[in-house]
Amino acid sequence: MKSRFFGDLPLTSLSGIGSILEKKFADLGIKTVSDLLFHFPIRYENRAAIHAIADLTIGEQTTIAGQIIKSDIVTTKRRPMLICHIQDDSGIAVLKFLNFNQGMRSTFSVGKEVTAYGEVKAGQRHFEMLHPQIQLKSLQAKSEAEDPQFTPIYGTTFGLTQHTIRKTVDAALLLLKHNPPVEILPPALTNQFWDVTTALFTIHHPPITLNIDELTEGKHPAIKRFIYEELLAYHLSMLTIKMDNQKQFATPLRANEQLIRPFLANLPFTPTAAQQRVVEDIFQDMAKSVPMMRLIQGDVGSGKTVVAALAALNAIENGKQVALMAPTEILAEQHFINFTNWLTPLGIDVDLLSGRLTAKNRAHCLEKLVEGKTSLLIGTHALFVDKVAFADLGLVIIDEQHRFGVNQRLSLWEKGEKDHLYPHQLIMTATPIPRTLAMTVYADLDLSIIDELPPGRTPITTVVLPNSRRDEIIDRVKQACQTGRQVYWVCTLVQESEAIDAKAAELLVEELRILLPSITIDLVHGKMRSEQKQSVMQRFKQGEISLLVATTVIEVGVDVPNASLMIIENAERLGLAQLHQLRGRVGRGTAVSHCVLMYQPPLSKVAMARMKVMRESSDGFVIAQKDLEIRGGGEILGTRQIGGANFKIVDLIRDQALISEVQKASYLLLQHHPQNAKSLIERWLPDREKYINA
Ligand code: ADP
Ligand code: MG
Repeated sequence: MKSRFFGDLPLTSLSGIGSILEKKFADLGIKTVSDLLFHFPIRYENRAAIHAIADLTIGEQTTIAGQIIKSDIVTTKRRPMLICHIQDDSGIAVLKFLNFNQGMRSTFSVGKEVTAYGEVKAGQRHFEMLHPQIQLKSLQAKSEAEDPQFTPIYGTTFGLTQHTIRKTVDAALLLLKHNPPVEILPPALTNQFWDVTTALFTIHHPPITLNIDELTEGKHPAIKRFIYEELLAYHLSMLTIKMDNQKQFATPLRANEQLIRPFLANLPFTPTAAQQRVVEDIFQDMAKSVPMMRLIQGDVGSGKTVVAALAALNAIENGKQVALMAPTEILAEQHFINFTNWLTPLGIDVDLLSGRLTAKNRAHCLEKLVEGKTSLLIGTHALFVDKVAFADLGLVIIDEQHRFGVNQRLSLWEKGEKDHLYPHQLIMTATPIPRTLAMTVYADLDLSIIDELPPGRTPITTVVLPNSRRDEIIDRVKQACQTGRQVYWVCTLVQESEAIDAKAAELLVEELRILLPSITIDLVHGKMRSEQKQSVMQRFKQGEISLLVATTVIEVGVDVPNASLMIIENAERLGLAQLHQLRGRVGRGTAVSHCVLMYQPPLSKVAMARMKVMRESSDGFVIAQKDLEIRGGGEILGTRQIGGANFKIVDLIRDQALISEVQKASYLLLQHHPQNAKSLIERWLPDREKYINA
């Protein structure tokens, strides 16, 4: 087909790519020539500028050039090392190689001219480079003939060198040059962008004269074209998913209130107006023969669980089964306890598919499920492995969607298909996202918002204190526990590793047990076995533990209304979204709640601004908005992954100004250029394709 991009060719069609390299590239998700061309450098290095040896700075990555004046093999610690001295007009530097072969010995003979690129280290008498990248003069002469360029550095995997990637990219670019692709964007859009070929050449080989920051920050026209493409492809895939979804069928489920009425009568409170409104949206959707795909956004503590229960009851009343998926075992177990308390009095069979079931119990659980005896099955993503089969799944509920990607969600939805009937789908999230961003990330979903908290909540007072006031804070914890309150102490992000966090939390527990001997203290962290975690959470919920030290595993969903004080250590290292989620664990009962954000001075400007926001607001949507305003580097909402969206080059916050334009363009494409729309999705979201019926 003419319109097909030559880039669909498998990578093996490039010379030099055999089955070993093919596998390595596949590890990076690169299967076709096109995938490779769209594997953009993660950064660039300026290796073209040759520095005088006398002016080198230790620790810098630099290029030097000179003549070899000495070349020896020296054996240290029983390993031979090749040591070359090179000299330029200004001085002498030493190049060292631990792993060298015979070929290298003759290459590095005295008198040869070489260029070396590497990190400058201090040596005994001269600057040194260990394993620098080397170019001999003869090769260099050739490359000097071309315009000097930045050297691209690519994301890679074990066993695949930068050199190989560059060589392969160059082969692909050569192919591109001789087969310029048919333009994929419709004419109405192309005039504002660079053409693909020029843009790709620039991205893989930016000339040294180019302002490289513009390229890495998404401001240069070469990269802008692709940012636009990726955002457009994402919108297109979401819209296509939505349209496909609307072509599917589901069993209409109309509320008959047989179970809902007694459930509401037993509930110790009345749903808020916002909860009622959202439930109304859900019931209307479920009554249709098109599968529901609705997202409920509701701040922490807004009462999403009851809403989920009502949706589940609606399906169960109609004889259907329900799957409820939670992001963590703790949360799945908590849901299991809640739902068991609520639903078993109504004669409904609720089950938990947990990682800690014995093989026998697990088999029993699956058997009951496939026989249709279980009406509600709760679990983590383990719910959706192949062995889990339902008799008649009518509704899938996904809690805290920000932990799951779109593909994950779609694959489990597909699993529910039976005789061409799909289950209804309800998704809940407590991560508030400003409207413009939600338009992109959740473009495939209908949106309902719970914009009201249950009555009787007292606002949380937040204070920000430096570590140096730790003693006072411990006193406060003591007082709270002595008056019957419960306390969370969150020990966060000592390292980017749950194992190290867990260790820090264990040490903290030991310390606090010595300082607060009269208080029951326990610990929960992600490295504990699931049954241990559950038993600790259960005892905390029942009030047997007064002070719970935890890592961020408690971030999502945990509900203990009597807990009214939270200490967050190293609060300066957390983003606003996470701080807000954590703080939402307190202020759930009627007692006045407090949150202490403890920090290690000095506070950076951004951290200071965040602390201020936390002190001044408890409204998730306000906080999300502020988050966008003050964010520095993009560490907060997880820029590339908001709401499970996983972008290669788009940064939704940086690029949000494009969103409304892209939205319009995506309707235009779907209507008038469906083939181009398809090609764009293929180019940017090859994984998404399998969920889209063209
Ligand atoms: P989230 O939206 O964060 O998942 P939950 O569903 O865990 O919130 O609800 C938080 C707490 O509020 C729970 O203890 C729940 O029982 C209670 N709750 C929910 N709805 C109401 C209501 N309408 N009135 C009073 N309390 C409510
Ligand atoms: Mg919840």
